Amino acid sequence: MIETPVSTSEMIGIESELGAHNYDPLDVVLTRGEGVWVWDTDGNRYLDCLSAYSAVNQGHCHPEIRKAMVEQAERLSLTSRAFRNDQLPHFYDEICKLTRSSKVLPTNTGAEAVESAIKCVRKWGYEVKGVSEECAEVIVCANGFHGRTISIVSFSTDPTARKNFGPFTPGFKIVPFGDGSALENAITPNTVGFLVEPIQGEAGVIIPPKGYFKQVREICSQHNVMLIIDEIQAGLGRTGKLLAEEHEGIEADLTLVGKALAGGYYPVSAVLSNSEVLSVLRPGEHGSTFGGNPLACATARAAMRVLVEEGMIENSADQGHYLLAELAGMRTNQVKDVRGRGLMIAVEFHPEVGGARRFCEKLKDVGLLCKETHKNTLRLAPPLVITRDQVDWALENIEKVLRLD
Ligand SMILES: *Cc1c(COP(=O)(O)O)cnc(C)c1O
Repeated sequence: MIETPVSTSEMIGIESELGAHNYDPLDVVLTRGEGVWVWDTDGNRYLDCLSAYSAVNQGHCHPEIRKAMVEQAERLSLTSRAFRNDQLPHFYDEICKLTRSSKVLPTNTGAEAVESAIKCVRKWGYEVKGVSEECAEVIVCANGFHGRTISIVSFSTDPTARKNFGPFTPGFKIVPFGDGSALENAITPNTVGFLVEPIQGEAGVIIPPKGYFKQVREICSQHNVMLIIDEIQAGLGRTGKLLAEEHEGIEADLTLVGKALAGGYYPVSAVLSNSEVLSVLRPGEHGSTFGGNPLACATARAAMRVLVEEGMIENSADQGHYLLAELAGMRTNQVKDVRGRGLMIAVEFHPEVGGARRFCEKLKDVGLLCKETHKNTLRLAPPLVITRDQVDWALENIEKVLRLD
């Protein structure tokens, strides 16, 4: 089929007419990507400072990941889990070694991993901890983000994510993020899990007080509550460590990974667990048609390999450290706070500035693609392959936009 050429504005028009309006994208239509760069249909080049919400940590169209994916696509794409495939055991082995986990449940999206973890800790609660039927509670944090399914928005504190989507799933309790005593006070004999992000990404890169996770780890162990850390955004090198939990020297009972797990080529996520929780699942009790498929496994294996072999995690720590320090140095009156860890960085503007969206539009005009998170915060999260020269180029342009405002 030969496509008739469609102009950029026509494409935006078609999207607006035919698509559900559940996003409010910048009016830039991208057609190609390589490393930290993406190009629009008019040939303009941009430095991607969002990395698809950290799903392309390895950079756009990484050649090694692409090669692994294409080779696998030519061989075998999907078997379903009714049969075995020759990529799944290698994926299990490599992800367990990388993250020091003992069991894996492969899923597609992050929300599916979150849902699966909740199901598993509930079942563990009834069968191992001895919680009475239908009484299991999972504690979560205010302002967290874990996805968009009914059960997940059931414990969201974002009114926009919840309004008119009820009735909601019961069994959740919400505590403030960063407050160990609030967690301890909320725990009852029915508490089976505590689900938390290591750094709250969507909330605007909120870093908890030092020592919080050590305390959380102790509280959870003391009360036999499974600690579920959602590393879907902060994990896989984004904060300068493989997993963000390493900054506090702790280990979760369940770790959720996704997004960058397949380098942006394919939706691959996983629940990684100690052996106790995932061992409660028996055949037929849970599943996913595409979860653990050979194309997903082969792509994820290459994505994990390049993340480590090409030093992307160290680079995230180095460039992130530099970018954060430089940004802190260029504070203008509009800037309320600059914070971050590794290449997960936020610039928060004073509310009087009237929102960060305006800066995103201006940054787009000088060649940087960013997205505001909540109203007043700009998130800077470029691919982890960014070089010092590229960081300097970004800083020059950010400074231009901030100073000219
Ligand atoms: C993106 C995200 C999810 C949901 O992942 P999807 O693949 O979009 O379903 C869950 N938790 C966190 C922390 C995320 O950033």
